[in-house]
Formats: sequence, C-alpha cells, structure tokens
Amino acid sequence: MSEEGRLSPETIASLRTELLERHPDLEGERVRLFSASGRINLLGEHTDYSDGFCLPAATNRRVAGAFASAPDERPRIVVHSRRFASDADFCLEEIPELPPGDWRRYVASTAKVLRVEAARRGVPLAGMRGVIDSDIPVGSGLSSSAALELLILNAWSRLSGVELSPRELALLGQKAEWEYGVQCGILDQLAIVNGRKGEVSLVDCRTLEATPIRIALNGFCFLIGFTKERSLVASEYNARREECRRAAEVLRDASGRKDIRALRDADPELVARYAAELEAVGAREGMKLLPRAEHVVNENARVHRAVDALQRGDVAAFGALMLETHRSLAEKFEVSSPELDAMVDAVLAFSARSGTPSWARMMGGGFGGPVLILAPADAAETLMERVGELYRRATMSEGRFWTVEIEDGLQELG
Ligand code: ADP
Ligand code: MG
Repeated sequence: MSEEGRLSPETIASLRTELLERHPDLEGERVRLFSASGRINLLGEHTDYSDGFCLPAATNRRVAGAFASAPDERPRIVVHSRRFASDADFCLEEIPELPPGDWRRYVASTAKVLRVEAARRGVPLAGMRGVIDSDIPVGSGLSSSAALELLILNAWSRLSGVELSPRELALLGQKAEWEYGVQCGILDQLAIVNGRKGEVSLVDCRTLEATPIRIALNGFCFLIGFTKERSLVASEYNARREECRRAAEVLRDASGRKDIRALRDADPELVARYAAELEAVGAREGMKLLPRAEHVVNENARVHRAVDALQRGDVAAFGALMLETHRSLAEKFEVSSPELDAMVDAVLAFSARSGTPSWARMMGGGFGGPVLILAPADAAETLMERVGELYRRATMSEGRFWTVEIEDGLQELG
C-alpha cells in the first residue's frame, strides 16, 4: 500500500520522452530533469509564529519534471501536469489571472515572482516547456504546493541562468504562495531548499537560519498516517496566534524584561513564575494564555533536546519527545482531533502489543491531517496494516499510510 503511485526511475525517465513527444521541435540534449520534495517536520509545532524553532526535513516524495528552454521570440511557458492532465500555457508578458483552486495558478504565481526577480537582475527569462509528475499526495500535510513552486522556480531559473541561492529560492517560493493567495510562513520552503539526505534542518524562525543536523535513525524510519481531513479552522489558528502574542506581552510586562518580543524569548521557568499573571489576564480577556505559553516554551526546549537525541542516534529518546509533543498539542494547545488522537493511540497500542518500539505525534496545524510515525523500517508494512485496522475500528474511517525517507530537497536528476 505504501508504494502505490510512487515515482519510479522509469516514470521519471518517461517524463523526458513525453516532453519530446509533446514538443518535437525541442532538442533532446537540452532536456533536464529536476525534482523538489515534500517535507515533514520532526518536531517544533506551532512555534513558528512565536519566532521559535522547528526541525523540518525533505522527503523522497517529490514533484519531478523534465524541462527544456525554448527559443521563443516571446517567452512562453507550457507545463503539463500528469496528475491534473492539463497544461499551464501562457506568455511571460501576459501571465493570466486564474482562480484559486486551479493548479495552474501556482505556475502563474511563480512566473510572476520570478519575472520581477529576473528583471531586477537584468537577466532575461527563457521560454520553457515542461512535463511534471508527482508522488506527493495533495493536501496531505507534506506541502505539495511548496514543492511545485520550488520545482518550477529552480528549473526555470537554472535554464535561464538566473543564479539564486537556497535562501533566495525559499523567499521567492514563499512570495509565490502569497501571490497565489496563501499567507504561509517560510518553513516549507526552507525545509525543501536546505533538505539533504540523512539530515534535518534546525530552523530558527526569527533569523530564518537553518543549521544542518546529521541524524542517525539506526534502522528506524518515518511514516505518515493520514487522518480524515478537516478544513483548518482558520479562526482557531488565528486565536492561537493571538494568545501567543498576548502571552508574550504579559510575560514582558510582568517581568519587566523588555527583551521579550515573542514566546521564543521566554522559557519554562519564566512561564511558571508568572503563571498567576497569565491565568488572570487570560480569564479577564477570555483567552487561555498559560497553557498556550507552556506549550510553546516547552516545545522550543524539546526541539533542542531532539537535536541532541538525534545526533546521539538515541531514537527512543527522540520518540519519547514526539509523544510529549503530541500530548502538549492535544492538552495545552488544543489543536488535535479525535482522529489524530486515535491514530497516535493506535500506534502506541500496536507498539505495546507487538513489542515493536514505535512512536507518533500529530504533525502540522492540526484539527485533522497527518500523523508522523517513527518505527523500525522492517516493521513498517506490519505497522501500516495493524494500525490501519485499529484506526478503522476506533473511528469508522480509513487511514492512509505511506513511508517517507529523508532525501535531498532539490535535485537535478541524471
Ligand atoms: P499541500 O500543499 O498541503 O499539499 P495545498 O492545497 O496547499 O496542499 O496544495 C495542493 C495544490 O498544489 C494542488 O491542489 C495543486 O493545485 C498543486 N499541486 C500539487 N501537486 C501538483 C502536481 N503534481 N501537478 C500540478 N499541481 C499540483
Ligand atoms: Mg500547500
């Protein structure tokens, strides 16, 4: 079940063939193959908007494409998506306004931001033809949209000779997503451009600095379990943001520490010392400030403990931190859902019954969506089957599962 719909080397090679069939005038030797990965986040959830830390990595699930520049008089971009069986097709001078929900709007948004950047540098963008395919499930929490944008940006800038650093690529990817209409942070893009095989990035969401951390999983692997989707309740998300902002303000005023700009600048001791103030202001203003602040400061500390554990190759210590994170997100931050809890419980029940050490936590914004699972690689198949069964019994709905490996986030394929 995990291998369903995977991009095999044959599928990737067939992208080149299809591109040349669709555009017989292209020269075969100009065709280049690129990919951009879907990302996971090992730890550090709901910390980004408090200027905190997270630990993303790029996976072997990716959007791949064959691309070639075309000697157009008026540069034109034609990209065919196999998944959506349609073409994004427009001239650079006339980028169309497409409705949200249309995948071609991502290509148009990407073209808009790259056009501005290329003009700023005085480098003309080439016309481009492409065929893309993907094994990142859409809307699964692996951020297929960021991967699509970075694939197009990376391929097009390279074919045109626009030299972009990883950080510049990430910023342009974020701009493209904003242009599309989603005001995302920059975590997904940083995860992809900094992603390296066998490494995670320790991302500082204040400075956007990403420190590579080499990790040893010692025979363990990550899996994604996908629960019933709920539209992320935007009002809940905004409420959490506001509570975190207010909690930092209360801590700054109560402690007199002017340097506290966000919860990133506080720590568990400080939150404990001013717990009464947080409770009082929260009660007065109809917010939950204490548990929200506790989650964020503990989560930031957990990220650093996680780095330690992963560098030592102490998988069990990291797994225990995943469970702590899940409980904190469920109880203190209140962004879990019955399905997410059921999936995590199913993994723990499987672990206890079979004696297979495995851990899990919800990943992403919450209220449904993905669960990140850590288990021995040789038990992955059994886990997907058994946990799937337990989850079905608990929720009367189907979970979907797939394995992920940590890979280079941006690749040029041979
Ligand atoms: P997520 O980023 O979490 O996967 P989004 O809704 O943000 O979910 O982005 C998914 C959208 O990205 C799809 O609806 C589609 O518009 C675009 N997309 C993803 N993969 C592809 C693909 N292979 N071809 C074309 N568009 C894609
Ligand atoms: Mg997205």
